[in-house]
Amino acid sequence: MEYGKDYKYIPATSVGSGVGIAVMPDIYSYTIQIVNIALVGNPESGEFVLVDAGMPGSADEIISLTESRFGSDSRPKAIVLTHGHFDHVGAIIELVEHWNVPVYAHELELPFLTGKSSYPEPDPTVEGGMVAKMSPMFPNEPVNLGSHVQSFPKDGSIPGMPGWRFIHTPGHSPGHVSFYRESDGALIAGDAFVTVKQEYLYKVLTQEQEISGPPRYLTTDWKAAKQSVQELQKLNPSIAVTGHGLPMTGELLRDNLQKLVNNFEEIAVPDYGKYIN
Ligand SMILES: [Zn+2]
Ligand SMILES: [Zn+2]
Repeated sequence: MEYGKDYKYIPATSVGSGVGIAVMPDIYSYTIQIVNIALVGNPESGEFVLVDAGMPGSADEIISLTESRFGSDSRPKAIVLTHGHFDHVGAIIELVEHWNVPVYAHELELPFLTGKSSYPEPDPTVEGGMVAKMSPMFPNEPVNLGSHVQSFPKDGSIPGMPGWRFIHTPGHSPGHVSFYRESDGALIAGDAFVTVKQEYLYKVLTQEQEISGPPRYLTTDWKAAKQSVQELQKLNPSIAVTGHGLPMTGELLRDNLQKLVNNFEEIAVPDYGKYIN
């Protein structure tokens, strides 16, 4: 296994960094610098799955987090990925080596996780603030997990997460997925939509809660991105953990998702940028 040649630590942070929230008894969302990971599983059972793999250099933090929640030497049943952008797979190689557990992702994301394809270059010219302008420094070359990564089962189920299913939500990346649990309406949305304006350094720093489409500088297919948000809104989720920003729940989530769907062009799609068609 190896990271891409442009893999590196990114010096960015937020007030949420190092903070965890149990949004449900068995869903723990934790912020690493500027991105969220989630631990899905009941601490009493000792069984869990890790959703996404944090920022470059965060493996020790993720391991000590899981050990403090699930006990020393605990390990997840699997690592499941919403997509393969650098901020969601930043510690994955160290974690796979430490735990020796399988990684699952959508089959359309596998070329970016097996060293075959690079993501398109981030767009620093896109409408937005400092984070967008910094985005050329973000790694975009693929990690190579070799045979350690495989695609999700064809029936929509997620290994180690009974009661959940994955939903293909492309647009931000070709094989982006979200995770949904019908019984209580819990949604882990990845970057299909987020609750912070991720292009703006100050808003990232303060984590001011504001519904937003997928982070702009890395989103290449806005038509698909809109359809994906529409599909998630139709589920009428009760709670959403997103890849960036604080979890959103209840009426606030429903109202904001409706607002995002109704005004997707104004809220989500940038006025200019190289991936606008
Ligand atoms: Zn992303
Ligand atoms: Zn992200």
